[in-house]
Amino acid sequence: MHESRHILVVEDELDLAELLRYNLNVSGHNAEVVHSGQAALDAVAARKPDLIILDVMLPEIDGIEVAKRIKSSTETSDVPIIFLTAKSSDEDQIRGLDAGGDDYVTKPFSVKVLLARVVAALRRSAKGSSESEILEIGPIQLDTDRHEAMVDGSSVRLTLTEFRLLATLMAGPGRVLSRRGLISNAIGPGITVTERTIDVHIAAIRKKLGEHGSMIQTVRGVGYRLVDPES
Ligand code: CA
Repeated sequence: MHESRHILVVEDELDLAELLRYNLNVSGHNAEVVHSGQAALDAVAARKPDLIILDVMLPEIDGIEVAKRIKSSTETSDVPIIFLTAKSSDEDQIRGLDAGGDDYVTKPFSVKVLLARVVAALRRSAKGSSESEILEIGPIQLDTDRHEAMVDGSSVRLTLTEFRLLATLMAGPGRVLSRRGLISNAIGPGITVTERTIDVHIAAIRKKLGEHGSMIQTVRGVGYRLVDPES
């Protein structure tokens, strides 16, 4: 757990880039900083990072394009990406998730918040970890290690895909996930399934959640989000 993780920071604002390098290193990570999209692609080719913090607004090759190229290579498609976006509109966030971003932080942000997101993204991407994580929202509980789902205290049988979809939605309650984002997060990057397939899985999950099925909301033309009825 104490092995230092290699984090690539792509940010053309030099002061912000240095601030991130400093704070990541102080937090025990091993940060590498580059200032352009091309330098990011070169850095990833030279050494695959454990995570990328990627500014969206970069000169020439922007962050969205960088993410698309990284996610389209089988070699690097599993590297989590946290976008730094200057705009907070849903459209930008969704564009980021469609490009394969795992998370996004809107500028201006607190370094503390970003560091917490980094830790969460690294934890999510740690495969084979025996650490059991319980996700709990309202009446739904998921044990992501044992792949057990409980609703109102009763065990519910979900298929592997249904489980992963629900876990992905529960990892970001209240946040809209596009169908493509769900496919990439829950089923796997580079796997071809139609968006209609996601709708079918979501319908099946809703049915299994019974009276709590409405916690999964359809966002017209965009995708889905899970809402906590108690918040
Ligand atoms: Ca920028």
